[in-house]
Amino acid sequence: MDAEHASTTRGPVAVALGATVTRAPGATVLPATGAPAVSASGATVLTETGAPREGGLLDRFGRVATDLRVSVIDKCNLRCTYCMPADGMPWLPQSQLMSTDEIRRIVRVAVRSLGAEELRLTGGEPLVRKDLEFIIAGIREDNPDLPISMTTNAVGLDRRAQALKDAGLNRLNVSLDTLHPETFAELTRRPHLDKVLAGLQAARAAGLGPIKINAVLLRGVNDTEVVPLVDWAVTNGFEMRFIEDMPLDGDRSWTATNVIAASDIRAEIETAFALAPDPRGRGAAPAERWEVRRPGETAVAGHVGIISSVTEPFCAACTRTRVTADGKVRSCLFSHEETDLLSTLRAGADDDGIAQVWRDAMWAKPRAHGSDRVGLARPDFVQPERTMSAIGG
Ligand code: SAM
Ligand code: SF4
Repeated sequence: MDAEHASTTRGPVAVALGATVTRAPGATVLPATGAPAVSASGATVLTETGAPREGGLLDRFGRVATDLRVSVIDKCNLRCTYCMPADGMPWLPQSQLMSTDEIRRIVRVAVRSLGAEELRLTGGEPLVRKDLEFIIAGIREDNPDLPISMTTNAVGLDRRAQALKDAGLNRLNVSLDTLHPETFAELTRRPHLDKVLAGLQAARAAGLGPIKINAVLLRGVNDTEVVPLVDWAVTNGFEMRFIEDMPLDGDRSWTATNVIAASDIRAEIETAFALAPDPRGRGAAPAERWEVRRPGETAVAGHVGIISSVTEPFCAACTRTRVTADGKVRSCLFSHEETDLLSTLRAGADDDGIAQVWRDAMWAKPRAHGSDRVGLARPDFVQPERTMSAIGG
C-alpha cells in the first residue's frame, strides 16, 4: 500500500508538530504516563511515543514506508567524487556487517510484519559481496512475489548477471555518469568504463530489465553530456535518470550553487528532444518521469527521469525505509539518528520485537531532509556523518 492509499483508508489524527497522521479506526493513543490503554477492539495499538504497535511503517506525517532499501556492504570498487573520498574511507569490520542470513531475516520481517512491497539492494557496491547471489536466493525463497531490484555500478556484472537473475533478481539501476573513458576515470577515479558497458550488455542479455541508468551531473565535468546520455539510453532501450547532486559526498565539498538543477536538465534535454509528462505519473517514485520523442516524430522513443532532491524535494511523498550494511535503520537519507536493528536481532529478539523497533524508528522520521524543516540549501542544514556509500543510496 502506498501513502496515498493509506490516507484514504484510515481516519486522520492530529498529533504534535501540527502534523496530521493516520491510524487504524478504533486505535488508542497511550496516555503520557505510559499506562496501558486499549482500543475499542481490545488491542493496544499505539505506544507512548505515538508509534503504532501493529501494521506498517507509519510516521508522524502520515507517510507509510513500503519501499525497502537494504545496503549489503559499505565497500566499493570505484571512488566517485560526489560519493566517496579518494582514500581514507573507514570500512565496517566484517563482524559488524549483516550476514547473508541476517539480511534475509530483516527483509522477511519487513515484508511479513511491516508490509514492505518492494526491495532494492544497494551499497557501497553490492557486487563486491561474494555471497550476493545467496543473499538474493534466500530472500526470493522467503518472498516469491517480492519485486527485487539492485543499484550497482556494474563493474564485474558481466560475469554475474545470469546468476543474479537465476537467484531471483528482477531488475537493475546502473550508475553511469559519462560515456567518455577519460571523464569516467576522472569522475570515478578508476578506468573501468569498458567494464560497466560489458556489465550492461550482460544484464540485458540475462533479462534483468527494465534497466535504468543513474547519472549525477557535475559542473565542468560531465554537464555537457545530458543530450548524448539521453540519446545513448534511448537508442539502447534504457531509461535515463538524472539525479541532482546531494550533500552526501565524502569530500564534503558539495555546495548548493554547484548543483545542476532539474529545471536546467529538462531545458537541456529539450534542446534535442521533445519531453511530455509520463502519463503513468510519478506515484511515490523519486523521479519525475518524462516521455522522450525525437524531433518531428510522434512515437515515444523512450523515457527519462529526473530526481530533484535538492531543488524540488519530494519528501512529502516519501515511502522509503533504509537499512545500512551494519543493520541500522535510517528513516531518511539525511537523518542524524539511526536505530540499531541488527543488535536487536543479535540479542535474540523475535520477529515482533524487531518489527516494533523498526516501527518506533520510522515514527520519528523527520519531515524532510533529516529535519522537521525543509531545505538542503538552508544555512542550518547539517550534512549527516555518513556519506552516500555508507548509507546506501
Ligand atoms: N555503487 C552503486 C552505484 O553506484 O550504483 C550503489 C550505491 S550508490 C551510493 C547509489 C546511487 O547513489 C548511485 O546511483 C549514485 O550515483 C548515487 N549517489 C552517490 N552519491 C550521490 C550524491 N552525492 N548525490 C546524488 N546521488 C549520489
Ligand atoms: Fe561506489 Fe556507487 Fe559511491 Fe560510486 S556512487 S563510489 S560506485 S558507492
